[in-house]
Amino acid sequence: MITKAPEFTACPYCDGKEFMEIVQAGNAAGTRVGHIFKTAEIIHLVCRDCGSVIHSRVKRIDVLLTKAEKEGRE
Ligand SMILES: [Zn+2]
Repeated sequence: MITKAPEFTACPYCDGKEFMEIVQAGNAAGTRVGHIFKTAEIIHLVCRDCGSVIHSRVKRIDVLLTKAEKEGRE
């Protein structure tokens, strides 16, 4: 389990040092498998030099969790 968000100082593909965050056009949210009504916006970290997607994350993970998971029962 990842306990700390990864930090990137250089692009692993081109060694670029500048990044930007993007969201997919049309709010192409991620949908949790088996929970079709639970969707969350995905943010991609993109290298400004070569355009590679370095890392992707869900903006708000809590909206994908079940009530039991939020309460630590699952
Ligand atoms: Zn790059």
